[in-house]
Amino acid sequence: MEKIKIIDLHFQKTKDAIACFLVETSDGPILIETGPASTFDQLSRGISKSGYSLEDIHHVLLTHIHFDHAGAAWKLAEGGAKIYVHPFGAPHLASPEKLWNSASQIYGDDMDRLWGKMKPIPTNQLVSVEDKQELEFGTTKIKSLHTPGHAVHHIAWKMGDIIFTGDVAGVKIAGGPVMPPCPPPDINLEEWKKSLAIIKSEKPKELYLTHFGIIDAVDYHLDSLSYKLDDWAEWIKPYYEKNVDQAEVVPLFMEYSNSQFLKEGCSPELIHTYEYANPSWMSVAGLYRYWKLKAQGRL
Ligand SMILES: [Zn+2]
Repeated sequence: MEKIKIIDLHFQKTKDAIACFLVETSDGPILIETGPASTFDQLSRGISKSGYSLEDIHHVLLTHIHFDHAGAAWKLAEGGAKIYVHPFGAPHLASPEKLWNSASQIYGDDMDRLWGKMKPIPTNQLVSVEDKQELEFGTTKIKSLHTPGHAVHHIAWKMGDIIFTGDVAGVKIAGGPVMPPCPPPDINLEEWKKSLAIIKSEKPKELYLTHFGIIDAVDYHLDSLSYKLDDWAEWIKPYYEKNVDQAEVVPLFMEYSNSQFLKEGCSPELIHTYEYANPSWMSVAGLYRYWKLKAQGRL
């Protein structure tokens, strides 16, 4: 049985917001997720605390290429690691300018503080992984599950009877409720639900969430996520249809989602952590885009 270490990246000095996973295999340690470049020091410390050095990491598996999951991948590539990613994600890691520029439009001057730099990864270190492809690291086998819905370039990684779910199985922090992270531009409810069915059909005993940690009540968790996804999308739809400015909708949505958090027993501190891991403005923007593409018949 492989040992898995959860490294808390203390994103924005917040515990339980972003994780990365170190898996000990008979072929050495591998990483699943890297977190952003801004928390690279924390990642290095976590790797040393696990008894390894950065140079020991030869393989890095990414669930998708969003900054909070893959922003430090180029740094590990500089150390010689191979980076395993969805075929749609690989070109963006080879030339990250487009990814960087579109994020800069959203984050502006906060880009560096939040995410850090992003440099290109040489194509000979990028490994595109097909759906259901099995990777082997010594005696450890890890299967790729293409799972779009949150992002078109999303992979959940199955190892034995656990699945590292990236963002497709939602965000659930410190005993709080599960929530769907809905950033633009790829949110697709129909695809997302198909992906949840794929995860269910693999019958995992546990899910490892990047935001944050281990889930053992798998079916309940996935059903709750599916419910919440519909709930949020339906809440936002009338605002989209009436063409209400997103800036006006964000505080209303925050009020709505906070009331859900409070009903489910979350403390104000915990609600704050959720906001870091899954900002309200992002959900509004992502779900607006979903309804727009749907109205245009593009989904
Ligand atoms: Zn994420």
